Formats: sequence, C-alpha cells, structure tokens
Amino acid sequence: MSRQPALAELSVQYVKGVGPARAQRLKRLAIESVADLLWTAPRRYEDRSRFVTIGALVPGEAVTIRVRFLEVEIRRMRTGRTLLQAAASDGTGTVSCVWFHQPYLLTQLNIGQEYILYGQAELAGRRLQFIHPELERLDPVAGGGELGLHIGRIVPMYPLTEGLNQRWFRTVVRAALDRHSCNLEEVLPAGLRERYHLPSMTHAIEQFHFPQAWDQLEQARQRLIFEELFLMQLRLALRRARWMARRKPRRYQPEGTLARMFVQRLPFPLTDSQQGVIEELVGDLRRPAPMLRLLQGDVGCGKTVVAAYATAVAVQSRYQAVWMAPTELLAQQHHRVLTEYLSPLGVRTGLLAQGVPAAERRALMRQVAEGTVEVVVGTHALIASSVAFARLGLVIIDEQHKFGVVQRSALARKAKEPDVLVMTATPIPRTLALSFYGDLACSTIAELPPGRHPVRTRWYKESDRLQVYEQIRQELRQGRQAYVVYPVIESKAKTDLKAAAQMAAHLKAHIFPGFVVELLHGQMRSAQQEAVMHGFADGRIQVLVSTVIVEVGLDVPNATVMLIEHPERFGLAQLHQLRGRIGRGPAPATCLLISDVEEGDACRRLQAFVEIRDGFQLAERDLQLRGPGELLGRQQHGWLRLQVADLTRDAQWLDRTRAEAFELVERNPELAGQEFAALRVRLRQGR
Ligand code: ADP
Ligand code: MG
Repeated sequence: MSRQPALAELSVQYVKGVGPARAQRLKRLAIESVADLLWTAPRRYEDRSRFVTIGALVPGEAVTIRVRFLEVEIRRMRTGRTLLQAAASDGTGTVSCVWFHQPYLLTQLNIGQEYILYGQAELAGRRLQFIHPELERLDPVAGGGELGLHIGRIVPMYPLTEGLNQRWFRTVVRAALDRHSCNLEEVLPAGLRERYHLPSMTHAIEQFHFPQAWDQLEQARQRLIFEELFLMQLRLALRRARWMARRKPRRYQPEGTLARMFVQRLPFPLTDSQQGVIEELVGDLRRPAPMLRLLQGDVGCGKTVVAAYATAVAVQSRYQAVWMAPTELLAQQHHRVLTEYLSPLGVRTGLLAQGVPAAERRALMRQVAEGTVEVVVGTHALIASSVAFARLGLVIIDEQHKFGVVQRSALARKAKEPDVLVMTATPIPRTLALSFYGDLACSTIAELPPGRHPVRTRWYKESDRLQVYEQIRQELRQGRQAYVVYPVIESKAKTDLKAAAQMAAHLKAHIFPGFVVELLHGQMRSAQQEAVMHGFADGRIQVLVSTVIVEVGLDVPNATVMLIEHPERFGLAQLHQLRGRIGRGPAPATCLLISDVEEGDACRRLQAFVEIRDGFQLAERDLQLRGPGELLGRQQHGWLRLQVADLTRDAQWLDRTRAEAFELVERNPELAGQEFAALRVRLRQGR
C-alpha cells in the first residue's frame, strides 16, 4: 500500500481554487500546507440562518443583515479624503452605510444586488448608520451553492490578508475538506476519546468550519483544543523521559563540611521555603540522571543562597560549578557574594567578564581548565569556545529568560551531562510554565524572608515632581539610598542616555545637593560600571541615576526608594523587576512613578502595577494583556504554536492533557502498539 502523504506535507497551492499567487498570500497568514489551512481557526462565526431585519435594529449591537443597495454616492471631503455613502434596504427599513478613504469599494457596490452586512448600527441624528461594516456580496448565479456555504447556516469568518476575501476563503476550505477530510489522521487513542467524549477528527474538523449548530461547534473546538494541548504535553513528556534516561558520570556527596559550614556562616536562617527547595536540588544531584530544574520565586525571595548551597555541594564533591548572568553588573555581584560566602571556606572563585583585563582573564581560564578555580561566574562570554573546564558538574543560569535556548545549551555543552539549574525572577504564569518549561522540574520559593514590608507604589503626575523629590530626600536623610531609573529605547539609545546623563547632573546640582549622586549606564566601560555599583553597594553613593541595566538581580538592601521616569514605556515584567531592586531589607520601601498617561494600554499597565504587588499575579495580568507570544518573546519553540487552544482560556484542559500525556509516557515510553501508530507518525512530523 503506498503511503498517503500527510496533510502537513501537501502544499496548499494545489487545493482547488488556490494556485501559486494566492498561495503566496496565504503564506502571510502562516498557511502553507493543507493541514495549516484546515487548522486555521475562524476568528468568528455568523449565524446567517436568520437575519436581523432593519426594522428591528438596536443601536450598538453587532448584527448581520441581508440587504440591497438603493443608491451609492462618493464625495470628496474638504480634507481631500473620500467618503463613500450608501443607502441599503431589506424591505423593513433603510440604513445608511459609510466608509472613509475606501474609494475602491465603489466598484464593488452594485445597485440592486444582494449583500450581507456585518457591523454595529449607531444612531446618527435620528437615523441608523453603519460605519465601515463588513461586506460580502451574494452571488446571483451561484444558486444552491450560496445556501450551502455563505448563507442559510452558521458561517465561518476567517482571518484575512490583502487580496483574499471571505467567500473565496470559505470555498477553498470547503474544497480542502471535500478532498482531504477522509485522509485526516485520527491521532488521539480511542480510549482517550471515549474518556473525554471527544468526537472523531473527521467530524470535528467539518463542524469547526461549517457547524450545523452552536453546540456542535463547541464540541468540535474542544476536541481540537484537546488534541493540540495533548500533543504539546506529549512532546514535553517524551523530552522529560529522554532526559531522565540519561546518566551523568558523577556522584555527589551531599553531606559534607563545606555545605554545612556554608549554612552556619550565613547571617540569617534559611526560610522553610528555601530549605524545601534545597532538598529538591540535593535530590536531583543524588539521582543518576542529570538535574534539569527551573527555580522560580518572586524578586527578592532569596534564590541566590539556594543556588549557592548547590554550588557548595558540587565543590565538596570535587566538581566545578559555573554561574551565568545576563549582565556584567549581575555577574560582578554574584561573584562578590559567592566569594564572600565561599572563599573563607577555601573555595576559589573567578569572574569571567568583559571588564577583566586580558592577561588576568587568560590566567583565570588556565586555572579553570586545570580545575584549580572551582566556581566561575560570568556573562554570556562564558560560552566562548576557549573557555574549558576540568570537571564541570553544575551549571547555574540566572535570570534565564534573558538568554536564548541556544545560549543555554551552549554553556551546558561544556560538561558531560551537566546538572542544570535555571533561575527566573520574572514569575511565569503557571499555564506558561507548564507549556514552555513543561519538560523541566520546577521548584518555587513561595515566601519572602521574614520582616520584609511590601513595597508601596505611588503614581504621580508631572506636576507633583517636587513633592516626589522631597520624598526621596526624606529617605536619604535617614541614611537610605535611592534609584532613579530612565528608560532606554533601543533605536534611540543615544538620546535617552543623554537624558539620563543630563538628569544626573541636574539632580546632583539642584535637587540632591549634599548627597552623592552618580550615573550608571550600559555604555560605560565595564570597570567603571563596577566601580559605581560597588560604591552604591557600599553606601558611599546615595543616589544611583541609571538606565534599565539595574533591571535584573541587583541587591542593595539599604536602597529603599526608586523613582521610575516614563514608566509607561516599560512592560509589566520589567517594571516588576525594577521595583524588585528595593524592599530587600527590613525597612519599608517606596516605588514612585511619574507619568501623565491617562488612557490606553500603558495606563492599564500602570494601574495594574500600582495595584498588584505579587509577581505571580502580575504575570497573570501581563499574560491577559499581552498574550503568551509576547510574554515569552525570546522562546522560539516552533512546535508550541497553538492554533485553536488558548493557554489562558483553556487552562483546565492543560492540566488534564498533561496528566494524560505524562501517564501515557510513564506506562508506555515507546508508544508501542497499533493504537498509537498515527500518534507516532504525527510526533515525527513535528506538527
Ligand atoms: P532573588 O531571589 O531576587 O535573586 P536574592 O537571592 O538576591 O534574591 O536575595 C535577596 C536578599 O535577601 C539578599 O540580600 C539576601 O541576602 C537576602 N536573603 C536571602 N535569604 C534570606 C533569608 N532567609 N533571610 C533573610 N534575608 C535573606
Ligand atoms: Mg537574583
């Protein structure tokens, strides 16, 4: 029997009615194969089995009506733009329709012919008017075909691009269904379909595009959502299983003097949450499979000591550890902290960063290669092929969302089956964690160290600026420190740097005289950055005027106030990270915003930021405001592209499909058996 080519391998170009030119246009919608076409979700549906009559129109309600145009007129307005106005009637009344700047529509509006209109009627004086309604002409010669596809039923409305219209799209989907729906593979095992009462694929895909009734459509959608999420989770389960089948060439000694002394010398007791996570990490290190774990926790919860504990375990087991951080500043800080914690215990640490002089760097690299330096901290400079380790065991990646997948795995290749811990302080909504990091084990530090006060956030207008400065001065007079943060827009980095620099001079001379004010930004030489940061950490510098390079990781507990200028230019996650720089000690802290925005997305973001302090809640809000793609911009897992499912809306399916997928892989890691044949094929295809 010759193998049917999978629908994912069949170009959409050969579907009846498409052809090469239109195939190019479909490509803009990411539709390349027949499978892509059939999985394209209509953006909405219209019930065209009954039409609302003009006589019964209610202003403000979205409706579909069936009309003929009585007259059409085009006018040029004083601005030079065109206004197209048409009167339409369905026998029960007349409405007017207007379109601005769309003169080409004139040729498409034929008097006397039937059209379907979709839109919201608004009152214009005493008359009802549609502004820019969607328009679809009924074809007088199509006869019965119209009834089957475009009217007399629930009709799909697809996402379009220039040069494509709804009627064409619908006809093409119909043709693809007629020709190919018998070749649709049923990938869901029968047991699963029965358990969840899911219709067959053939039935579901037909109803998804041309539903007989709303409840049929809903069942079909649920089936497609289930399939998408199940396949995603199955891939994650298989990856996890493959990882857990690996064997590392190392045995750790979790009990030892070094780790014990490390804890004894800490100036604070570990929280229960930190202790719990340490146990999970040690559990991973003991296991024959390498660790692959994500450590989450809100900013300031104390992830660093936990990772430092694992580092101590690695060193006392005679392995090396490497820490990678996204900025020089953070690498420097980690190096400082680790040296403080570990060098009194005889551990040798090194910093591999841009600012380190070449000769020193070469010497360090030699020691790392020989194994005499046991803990290396650095930026992505660590990835360079010239950096080699004698016996690297543990890889720690801080603020991992700032790195790409490629960078992370490049570092991990420096050891044989390394134990990998990735940390993130940008809390990830649970649904995203279960999808994007669904093959990692996950630990969460759920509590902040005792005695912390939540940071107060206050939003001021430009006119309150002097009052804001006074609040900062009050903190400074009590011996506290302050951050003043300026945004940098990448395309105009220079202008904004100048703004931060000017601001520093201004603040120094006029606003905070008598206090030490210094500037910090990413274009300064690395040694200079380090000197300023050191001065701030020591308390010599009281006001740090900076760009967003202070965004991640920095830890100066005596800083209790932060002013964010132009906060409307930052994303929620970024704002939360910035705010996380303060409130790291026992004194109460305040985050001040100055912005005059009054509406729009930025305004909603700032409102959410003022209202919500908890990073996880804020992340959920961010997900609602921006959607998953934006939120995890750097993560390029192509196969996580979801067409029908929505991680926020369909969270309950995510849990169930995850449980089913992991259970299946546990029971049958090879997915052996006829029942899973189609599933195996699909997994190999990648979609
Ligand atoms: P993050 O999780 O954001 O990386 P850090 O590891 O930088 O946070 O820790 C934030 C601050 O909290 C640091 O100053 C650290 O010394 C302090 N800290 C960590 N754990 C505790 C604890 N158990 N008790 C008190 N302070 C702690
Ligand atoms: Mg940190």
